[in-house]
Amino acid sequence: MSVETQKETLGFQTEVKQLLHLMIHSLYSNKEIFLRELISNASDAVDKLRFEALAKPELLEGGSELKIRVSFDKDAKTVTLEDNGIGMSREETIAHLGTIAKSGTADFLKNLSGDQKKDSSLIGQFGVGFYSAFIVADKVEVFTRRAGLSAGEGVHWASKGEGDFEIATVEKAERGTRIVLHLKSGEEEFADGWRLRNVIKKYSDHIGLPIELPKEFHGEEKDKPAEPEWEVVNRASALWTRPRTEVTDEQYQEFYKHVSHDYDNPLSWSHNKVEGKLEYTSLLYVPGRAPFDLYQREAPRGLKLYVQRVFIMDQADEFLPLYLRFIKGVVDSNDLSLNVSREILQKDPVIDSMKSALTKRVLDMLEKLAKNEPEQYKAFWKNFGQVLKEGPAEDFANKEKIAGLLRFASTAEGEGEQVVSLGDYVSRLKEGQDKIYFLTGESYAQVKNSPHLEVFRKKGIEVLLLTDRIDEWLMSYLTEFDGKSFIDVARGDLDLGSLDSEEDKKAQEEVAKSKEGLVERLKTALGEQVAEVRVSHRLTDSPAILAIGEQDLGLQMRQILEASGQKVPDSKPIFEFNPNHPLIEKLDAEPDEDRFGDLSHILFDQAALAAGDSLKDPAAYVQRLNKLLVELSA
Ligand code: ADP
Ligand code: MG
Repeated sequence: MSVETQKETLGFQTEVKQLLHLMIHSLYSNKEIFLRELISNASDAVDKLRFEALAKPELLEGGSELKIRVSFDKDAKTVTLEDNGIGMSREETIAHLGTIAKSGTADFLKNLSGDQKKDSSLIGQFGVGFYSAFIVADKVEVFTRRAGLSAGEGVHWASKGEGDFEIATVEKAERGTRIVLHLKSGEEEFADGWRLRNVIKKYSDHIGLPIELPKEFHGEEKDKPAEPEWEVVNRASALWTRPRTEVTDEQYQEFYKHVSHDYDNPLSWSHNKVEGKLEYTSLLYVPGRAPFDLYQREAPRGLKLYVQRVFIMDQADEFLPLYLRFIKGVVDSNDLSLNVSREILQKDPVIDSMKSALTKRVLDMLEKLAKNEPEQYKAFWKNFGQVLKEGPAEDFANKEKIAGLLRFASTAEGEGEQVVSLGDYVSRLKEGQDKIYFLTGESYAQVKNSPHLEVFRKKGIEVLLLTDRIDEWLMSYLTEFDGKSFIDVARGDLDLGSLDSEEDKKAQEEVAKSKEGLVERLKTALGEQVAEVRVSHRLTDSPAILAIGEQDLGLQMRQILEASGQKVPDSKPIFEFNPNHPLIEKLDAEPDEDRFGDLSHILFDQAALAAGDSLKDPAAYVQRLNKLLVELSA
């Protein structure tokens, strides 16, 4: 044991303490993942060394055969991992293993529900990391030395995973990191070659550098060599460099967990090698569920970037558009230079063509998933549909393709499930129908009974029901699909085109003519509240309805803008009435102008309520209604 100097005891950062506590108490069902996490860190450390050595080859002095060794001691009840990667300086050790919580830790802690089962899956998503060592160990020691520093600048870190850790400066002959786990009682099973080999095979086979275990010794104890022979237990070639046919589904899934920190399997993946003008390999995954920070601006996203097998950076977000930010994976380029930086990535035209090719790949993969595994696609849509809806606005070139991937609730499906594609819709068009009809609103419950749907129900025409917050905004970008334009059924003067017969149209004109007098009286009664009054052709059961002007903002957009503190231009609705409704007939026959006024206002307010809007003067509405009720019962 070498001499320790500058020894001190430091407290973990509060967030780290909370995380540690949580981890130790909620990951008991899947303890073996500690090995995956520590091996993953060792592999990252080797990646970093390779990268830094591009500029400073001297960092590789003292061993350029990069590897990870895992050993164990049954008697001492320890498991030891050793890598010859980048290592850590004293400051780095203090920062990374104790005082700096991983980015997002605070967010993560905020998202905990207290429900142990849910929380433990959240921990999985978060990526458990180094502290997972404490799932099986009651004491963890780290010996490390930063590449490039002298042997006298080694670091010894030790902790029992409670409130604090010790740190000291020690001699360490080789660069890199050695981690010694002192197993808790009850966890001795991990001090076993067979067990370790299995866990490594299971979780870390894809790691692109050799992971070695001591070879089993079968001879007599007295002949046992002091230094064991080592044996590589994983495949040790970067998974994406292997031909597709040589990679099993399980291996693809494990690799996904390595790059994504997800616990669960991905829904789908796409592995491609591109040769020709550009040369690169990509392996892209669709996760099975949304991360907790999907909607946070600063949340990490992007692919792991390699250049000629050398790891360059995590979260390279230049390769995919924002609306595909949920995709995980790796891209390995042969064209980029090894000293590529984020700044260069943002300008390099090579990146643009890779981005558009990768975007197509993802959209193709989603198309395939939708076609071949509709149940899986449903799960995808639940998790990421809202994000994909940002697509048509962001990616003009792929608008039609993205539109084909969208799913909607519709009058042809019960329960408001978003399962109808535009392709489905178009395949069910009525004879003479050349438009795609939709209605937006606050909730499925509200839109499904909207009076705007009456004529469509009568004629048996399907209407898409859009109730997500961003739908109205989305529809302002989607103008056409398969050559059919979109029509908001609550907007403008609904023209059903050839869905109305010539006789229908003639009859409508005649009715409109005969009601000109009523239209004028209503205009006077409703005054400033309306932009226009007209006879409706879209109502069968309701007396009246409010339509939005062709160019006006809809309710959803108005509410979003208002909520964000913006001034929204006041727009007036169009009041349409159903000439055949008994209430309208009564109104038409009402000689008393006061009563006519009250009734008109009640009808107007009711139409606003049915559209999901709130009343400007609810008290006036109640008063008028009560007055009428009193008269009725008198
Ligand atoms: P993550 O790997 O997601 O960054 P971890 O908790 O697994 O989070 O590790 C925290 C940090 O500790 C790493 O980012 C790295 O800086 C450092 N670290 C952990 N293990 C090693 C290692 N074997 N060699 C060098 N640095 C390491
Ligand atoms: Mg890690």
